[in-house]
Amino acid sequence: MDKVGLLKEVEHEMIQNRDLPLREANLVFGEGDVNCSVMFIGEAPGFHENEAKRPFVGRGGQLLRRLIRELGWREQDVYITNIVKRRPPENRDPSLEEIEAYRPYLARQIEIINPKIIVPLGRFSMNYFLPEAKITRDQGRAFRVQERLIVPMFHPAAALRSTGVLDQLRASFLRLPSIITGGVFEPNASIPSREVGPTPPKPDQVSLF
Ligand code: URA
Repeated sequence: MDKVGLLKEVEHEMIQNRDLPLREANLVFGEGDVNCSVMFIGEAPGFHENEAKRPFVGRGGQLLRRLIRELGWREQDVYITNIVKRRPPENRDPSLEEIEAYRPYLARQIEIINPKIIVPLGRFSMNYFLPEAKITRDQGRAFRVQERLIVPMFHPAAALRSTGVLDQLRASFLRLPSIITGGVFEPNASIPSREVGPTPPKPDQVSLF
């Protein structure tokens, strides 16, 4: 079965699973290129995402999508999803139980898509991959976890509240093409290899976890 078929299977299993929390909300599975190099992973859908059944379509999502386009990439060349795939009431933070309940599905989604780089957006998503990391200290750094690079970044919603955070988020975005082309990994054909931003990171800038 191809990647699209395998992902449909995972989505179908989630719909069938009556034990999953937040079942009163819509399932927002994720979207984008299943052969991408870069996968962006947020926390959980909000109001607009629940309505549209698409990730990152509200104001924060529009910023995320604009930053992707500013790299010369197309939104549809990356994959965008969340660790928790249904909206917590009142947009509260996802609980540890909710994150754990959705964990096996995200794990399979990542395994099927098999991106070279995962960009967790915000502290919850970052700590899912890097339990010891601190967002202000570690955002924009590349961490090797098994065969992938994890590059945590501020959540776009935080960047909407602070121009300082927005500047740092944009600077981190500008490093992504260098991280892909920096000899650490081969770029995927669907990501244009346009050079943007600083020179590629030296190997000692890639922290080994
Ligand atoms: N915030 C997230 O973390 N994910 C979304 O999809 C929307 C807002």
